[in-house]
Order: sequence, then C-alpha cells, then structure tokens
Amino acid sequence: MSKRDFYEVLGVGRDAGERDIKKAYKRLAMKFHPDRNQEADATEKFKEVKTAYEILTDPQKKAAYDQYGHAAFEQGGGGGGYGGGGGADFGDIFGDVFGDIFGGGGGGRRQQSRAQRGSDLRYNMELTLEEAVRGCSKEIRVPTLVGCDSCDGSGAKKGSSATTCGTCHGQGQVQMRQGFFAVQQACPHCHGRGKIIKDPCNSCHGQGRVEKTKTLSVKIPAGVDTGDRIRLSSEGEAGEFGAPAGDLYVQVHVAEHSIFERDGNNLYCEVPVSFTMAAVGGEVEVPTLNGRVNLKVPSETQTGRMFRMRGKGVKSVRGGAVGDLICKLVVETPVNLSSHQKELLKELEESFGGNAASKHKPKSEGFFNGVKKFFDDLTG
Ligand SMILES: [Zn+2]
Ligand SMILES: [Zn+2]
Repeated sequence: MSKRDFYEVLGVGRDAGERDIKKAYKRLAMKFHPDRNQEADATEKFKEVKTAYEILTDPQKKAAYDQYGHAAFEQGGGGGGYGGGGGADFGDIFGDVFGDIFGGGGGGRRQQSRAQRGSDLRYNMELTLEEAVRGCSKEIRVPTLVGCDSCDGSGAKKGSSATTCGTCHGQGQVQMRQGFFAVQQACPHCHGRGKIIKDPCNSCHGQGRVEKTKTLSVKIPAGVDTGDRIRLSSEGEAGEFGAPAGDLYVQVHVAEHSIFERDGNNLYCEVPVSFTMAAVGGEVEVPTLNGRVNLKVPSETQTGRMFRMRGKGVKSVRGGAVGDLICKLVVETPVNLSSHQKELLKELEESFGGNAASKHKPKSEGFFNGVKKFFDDLTG
C-alpha cells in the first residue's frame, strides 16, 4: 500500500466536504477504472483512490485519519488494514457512488435487523368500461407468501420455540472493533434477526411463511378509471417470522370500448345519420350505458355537430356530479347507388341552382366567398 496522503490522492483540500470528496472520487474512479484504463498502474491507482474515498467519507475513520494519519489503520491487522477487507471490488463500485448520487435513499447497509414486514404486491386488472363505470366484484388469484400454519409464522417446529441469539442478546446488531473504531454490524450469528431457530418447522423450513396462491374477492367501486389503484390492506406477502404483511395493490386498466370513449366523467360517441335526416330532421337512437335513448336531430344539421346529453356520462369514484354523454353526429354519404338513385340526386342538385355556392350550401357559400376574396386580394 502506498502511503500517500488521502487528501492528496483525491486532489482535495483538508477542509473538503463530502460532496467534493465524492465528486473527486467519481472523476478519478472513472479515470483509473481498469475497464477504461489499460495502463499498468491503473489498478493500483484505482485501489488507492477507492481506499482514500472510503476512509474520508466514513466520519469515524476520517476523524481518526485526521488525527493519527496512516497510523490509525495499521494496528488493525496485517497487510490490508484499511477495513475494506481484501481487494477492491470493481463490480459494485459504480453502483456505490452513482447510486448514492442519483438514486437517493438507501441509507447504510448496516441498519438491517429484525424480522421484516412483507412485500407489497401489485395485481394488474383489466376491466370493461361497463364494469368500471358500474363497479363490480372480481375474483383474483395471486401467488404470494402466507404465514405458515404449522408454526404460526414463528419458523420453529411445533413444541419448540426460537431462542434469543446469544451473540447479540436479541439486539440483531453487534459491535465490531476495527483498529480504533467500534462499528455496528448485523449480527453474523442470527443475521440480524435477534433470534435463533434450533429446530426449524418442516413446512416452511424455518422461514415462517410459505408460498401459496390466494384467491381473493375484490370489490371494484363504481366510477374507477385507468390508473386508479385499489389497496387491499395486509393482503400482500406475509412478513418474516410473524411480522406484518404487506399490502396488495390492484391496478385498474379499462379496456377500449367499441362505442364509447371516456374522458374524465364524460363519454363520447359518434352517431352516423343519413344526409336526408340531417337535412330534414328526425330522430335517431343513440346508445347510453343504461340503454338506448332517442336524440332529436334538428333539420339542417351539419356533420360534426355535437349534442350533449346531460347526466348520461359517468360518476367518478371520487364523487362529484355525473358527467355527460356527448354525441357527435356524422353525416353519411350514401353508397351503392342505383342508376335511378343517382338520377334523383342529380335532379336534386340541379334544383339547388347548379353553381357551387348557393343558399342551400352554407359551408360552400362561405368557402367560395373566401376563395374569391383570397384571389381578389392577390391580384388587386
Ligand atoms: Zn444475533
Ligand atoms: Zn412453519
């Protein structure tokens, strides 16, 4: 091991904060990482940088180093007295630094003890629009972990029980001495659980929980929509050794509907009408989620006109007013015409006065007047 000053190795001042130290380390680790740097001494330099980083970002070790220099780490034991234990592990180093910087959270890995709460689970449920709007009850099957019946979740064979770990006295943590420092670690004997199972349960092999596919009935409240989540408290995985279970989240996805499109509390649909009805008016049947209703089509209705049917939409699961059904009338051009029908239409067209713009063609009138004005402006 080299005896270069750790601050010098990282190229930072003695008053550098943790941020600066991390930044310097990130830069140098990238520079000397053996995957990137083929020079003969890159590995040595990389280890040096890593050691310096580890010491200077550990408050206890940093304090000792500031006070005693390299001597602080030489009492510990033999060659590699820097606590890291053996060579630098190239694998997780980037995860280490970048995880800290970008990932956030995480905390220390020492603080893991006692039985853990079970994991939360997620179930994706596809519903039809009708089911989502009206609400329904669904049976689902979820593969999960449940508390072991044979041992009531304790993990110990019936008649026996778990004993308190003698190494950590049930604390799950032990103090290890490293050179000058006392470091808290998960107890190596009981793996941080604080308890030892001498006679493990046969059904769960001492885990306190077993795999099982649970069948659950889920009540879907009326008005849910894609993206809504229903929480079933304590229906997730059982915790370790009788610890509380996690939750189950049912994630709702509403399938596309052949007629309706939903936007918030409103429903939209397109209703085709013949051009005759659009011209002279009439009544058309439109679908709603509660059956058919008649819509009065006024005479001279243009294609694309929207009709709002109040209260025929959806009531949100979050309450509030019921939405509307909005129908868009689409005027259809007739197809498969017989020669007689074509004649009749031509006759009708002639009765309109023949030319493109006429009082019978409100859109054309505006359009052709606009076109005329456009060319007049251009030439004039
Ligand atoms: Zn222990
Ligand atoms: Zn068991």
